Amino acid sequence: MRIGVDIDQILADFLQGFAKFHNTVYDTTVSKEDFRDFNLCTVIGGTEEEKNNKILEYYDSEFFKSIPSVPGAREALQKLHDEHEFVLITSRPNHISETTKQWLAKHFKTNFKELHFSNDWFKKGSNKLNKGELCKQLKIDLMIEDSVNNATLCAQHGTPAVLLAYPWNETDNLHSEITRLASWTDIVEHIQREKKARETRQF
Ligand SMILES: [Mg+2]
Repeated sequence: MRIGVDIDQILADFLQGFAKFHNTVYDTTVSKEDFRDFNLCTVIGGTEEEKNNKILEYYDSEFFKSIPSVPGAREALQKLHDEHEFVLITSRPNHISETTKQWLAKHFKTNFKELHFSNDWFKKGSNKLNKGELCKQLKIDLMIEDSVNNATLCAQHGTPAVLLAYPWNETDNLHSEITRLASWTDIVEHIQREKKARETRQF
């Protein structure tokens, strides 16, 4: 299978680093657990523009370079690596592609097939396709995400998605092609089951 993998909160614990950055630079005492919806402003306050500027500042900081990986991600990819192709699809902007590649090389031995930047939130990038359109274009069989919005776009464009469970993706109203799972261990089992089902369908 060709599996699409989001980076932030799927491979990289963006919020862990962001909380440290914010506490150090803006003298606050926020923690990763405070972030319970997709809008960071709920926790850090300020306007959308101020938040975006803080994220750009975070991208340039040492805190961003030393983000920890999401628990279980490395082991899961290592387990699945021989039988599947992994294509990274992130909403990060193009201009941090080098930092992103360096971080990935440091934390993952996986030989990622491709790396695509959808530039969703940072519209200055050249690629204006959303993740749903990108997954369709890239012929992705399954997308692993933490954003309900992105997962729904994928499902609507014909790519089933898996949501790694976080408070911000808790909902009673999921598209039928989206499966919400508690951990990377569950994601591995889901992919292995999906692979078997596909093999059975082929006979
Ligand atoms: Mg994400």
